[in-house]
Amino acid sequence: MLGELEVRYIQAYQATKAYLCPGCNRDIPERTHHVVVVPTEAPDLRRHWHTGCWQRRKPRS
Ligand SMILES: [Zn+2]
Repeated sequence: MLGELEVRYIQAYQATKAYLCPGCNRDIPERTHHVVVVPTEAPDLRRHWHTGCWQRRKPRS
């Protein structure tokens, strides 16, 4: 278990690299607004997601 997750919103101008989204296994191109999900106890395991993929994965309750 990873415990608490911190979700950070990355603005397009802050996204200087491309990432692979674990939700859809497609690239997140650079200069794209997306989210990064950081386990507070294991920040090295942070993952970058498309904003839409993350919201579909974890719907608001
Ligand atoms: Zn995605």
